Amino acid sequence: MKRKIPLHLKIVIGLIAGLVCGLTFIFSGVPAHITIHYIKPFGTIFVNSLKMIAVPLVLASLIVGVANLGDISKLSRMGGKTIGVYILTTVIATTIGLTVVNLAQPGKFIKEETRMELLALYEDSASKKMEAATVVKNEGPLQPLVDMVPTNVFQAAADNRSMLQVVFFAVLIGIALLSVPKEKGAPLVSFFNGLNEVILKIIDFVMLLAPFGVFALITSIIVELAGKNPAKALEILGALGGYGATVICGLALMVFAVYPLVLSFFSRFNYFRFFRGIRQAQLLAFSTSSSSATLPVTMECVEKKLGVPEEVSSFVLPLGATINMDGTSLYQAVAAVFIAQALGIELAISQQIMIVVTATLASIGSAGVPGAGMVMLVIVLEAINIPAAGLALIIAPDRILDMCRTVVNVTGDSMVTMLVAKTEGTKLQPNLDEEDAVELD
Ligand code: ASP
Repeated sequence: MKRKIPLHLKIVIGLIAGLVCGLTFIFSGVPAHITIHYIKPFGTIFVNSLKMIAVPLVLASLIVGVANLGDISKLSRMGGKTIGVYILTTVIATTIGLTVVNLAQPGKFIKEETRMELLALYEDSASKKMEAATVVKNEGPLQPLVDMVPTNVFQAAADNRSMLQVVFFAVLIGIALLSVPKEKGAPLVSFFNGLNEVILKIIDFVMLLAPFGVFALITSIIVELAGKNPAKALEILGALGGYGATVICGLALMVFAVYPLVLSFFSRFNYFRFFRGIRQAQLLAFSTSSSSATLPVTMECVEKKLGVPEEVSSFVLPLGATINMDGTSLYQAVAAVFIAQALGIELAISQQIMIVVTATLASIGSAGVPGAGMVMLVIVLEAINIPAAGLALIIAPDRILDMCRTVVNVTGDSMVTMLVAKTEGTKLQPNLDEEDAVELD
């Protein structure tokens, strides 16, 4: 009998093939433009197709979800709980980041000449990130609230970065649907129900491309990382190995210690099964470095495989993809202290506490797109009086660390979704064999 290869395995094969292909291209001297012009576009098409469905999916599933809630008080209870747990896990992540970096002290091992070289080499890229952060820096503390309310719904829906505005509008429609006579709202609910089903099917279509998309993404990331001088790139990555290992060690603690503890505290759900349920989303988070692009797949995994009801996941996950970034906040804490150590600046306890506060806020403000966490790091650095130009020290390995922290961001969002569903009295009925949902029938 012919056995089918499960999709997650195909994605892993795509990932490994991308790695092998990227390295072969570098070492056999295949010009980078070949990869950039002929392989990368397939990765971009894959990511774009995921992004394409994010807004309609959130809109349709959230409207249907809220309308199915039955009463508004459940929504506000769920909202409070979600935001509370999101902030709690982010503070824990930042604190873990601070602890590992203070214990490992990777910045103290950076040689003076490496430091000078990195500062000179990445000066331009660092100042571009500083410029990008200026807009946020000049905003008042209430700006995020102002930003949540769209002036034009269609404009908000046309921009994936305005996901919170889409969430706001969808919740509003859902609440209004709960408040009008049932028979009046019914056609709209059934329209969005239909739209939701169709979008879920489109996700299945897009996921058929995932192994190829992931292959193209990984090949091009490797070729771009190597740049014009692969030996030099390797040397720089090696010099920053201690820093990278510290970030990864902190991220691993989140995934393998903190989340299992939190999940088992609130529910008796087996963490291994949780992991199995969301592995497709984790693989995509790793390959795309974007929680927003991964969102449609995270929603599908959590609903279909872990049995979380749509009214919970459609609210908790889009919010998480925009504001809950445990991996990012942990990375920001490690990076800030690493830069201080490398520049020979001693941080007082008050500055370390300031890092917890600002990294938590900065991660909330980071968009779910590649590299966003690094731009917001400027704000953390300035809050503790570390020269933001120090960013140049950590630019080289950022893409690799971004891939890892995005996995943590997506895992954290999914864990909180399970937790909210559980505490809302849902009896979770996982269906881990739903793997083959990604089949055209
Ligand atoms: N790439 C991350 C995400 O999408 C954000 C970041 O840390 O840069 O979740």
